Amino acid sequence: MDNHDKPDSLRIQDLATEDDDFGYSLRPKTLKEFIGQDKAKRQLYIHIEAAKERGDALEHVLLVSPPGLGKTTLARIIANEIQSNFKQAIGPVMEKLDLASTLTNLDQGDILFIDEIHRVKGYVQESLYPAMEDYQLDLTIGQGPGSDIMQVPLDPFTLVGATTREGLLAGPFRDRFGIRIHLDYYEAEDIQQAIRINSAKLKINIDEDAEYALARRSRGTMRIANKLLANVRDYAQVESDGILTLAVAEEALEFFGIDERGLNAQDYAYFQTLIENFSGRAGLKALAVALSEDERTISEVYEPYYIKEGFLTPTPGGRVATDAAYAYFNYPVSSQASLFNAL
Ligand code: ADP
Repeated sequence: MDNHDKPDSLRIQDLATEDDDFGYSLRPKTLKEFIGQDKAKRQLYIHIEAAKERGDALEHVLLVSPPGLGKTTLARIIANEIQSNFKQAIGPVMEKLDLASTLTNLDQGDILFIDEIHRVKGYVQESLYPAMEDYQLDLTIGQGPGSDIMQVPLDPFTLVGATTREGLLAGPFRDRFGIRIHLDYYEAEDIQQAIRINSAKLKINIDEDAEYALARRSRGTMRIANKLLANVRDYAQVESDGILTLAVAEEALEFFGIDERGLNAQDYAYFQTLIENFSGRAGLKALAVALSEDERTISEVYEPYYIKEGFLTPTPGGRVATDAAYAYFNYPVSSQASLFNAL
């Protein structure tokens, strides 16, 4: 297939943001079932056991990773492991009043999960401070000079915040999370294990080589692995006798326009634009306009993986395509790229 002309079938941002019943039914329910991320699991295990022994609410937890690596799954696992309720608030749309009613409805030990916590409005974040620190809510009654602050006691609860952008959290907010956990992209072996377990759950007949081929193309991301498995299963069902062999998996991945590093048409367009239109170096805004793509999707979904794969270097002067990117996407390595990379 011509590298610059990939079909546009599976979009990674859909793969990375969408969730559905399929994903939910496959979510591990206990720390033991959660594959990989040994350091994170160990850290959580120790804090959970210690809190259980003392009979205290678990300290507030901040989970940090690119999308699809298991933050929501871990938040649910925490609730399950401490046998408490799991309640979720939608961060970006939350106002002070929503927060007040959510917090006052929490029971002792409940887990309150807020996804995309960096998108909670600043003044709402601030009203979380006393709630996190002293289990107390400061409610303003009335307006103007006659207004008053009423302090409402809350049951001790645990806030579990998830973010793809830790750097966007205000320092004092970040400091109020006693437990901070970073999840890394998964090794192909871990993803292969998940594919094996999920194939068994979904009664998919898959051979080991096909498992590994899917794992290697999952961009280190569990959610993408699940979605690839679903798509490839459909392909195998319709186009072959239903058994997912390596040959069928490769044919299906080719059909869906996913290459051997898990890159697709959008990734090719990104590097084509960066290299051809911007000579290998560009700012986020310019790239977003040229690609007609949302800045957040580019910086939070696409780029962390490019950086991890060594295709992109973030510099104060913009994103720079590395020599490895020139080589992989079939461009002669420009002396300019080498110069940028050396800086
Ligand atoms: P995030 O909240 O970081 O975007 P999720 O927790 O929603 O990611 O995970 C996406 C999907 O990947 C889940 O549906 C779950 O089935 C699967 N998953 C995530 N982490 C793991 C893991 N460590 N082991 C097995 N499956 C996982």
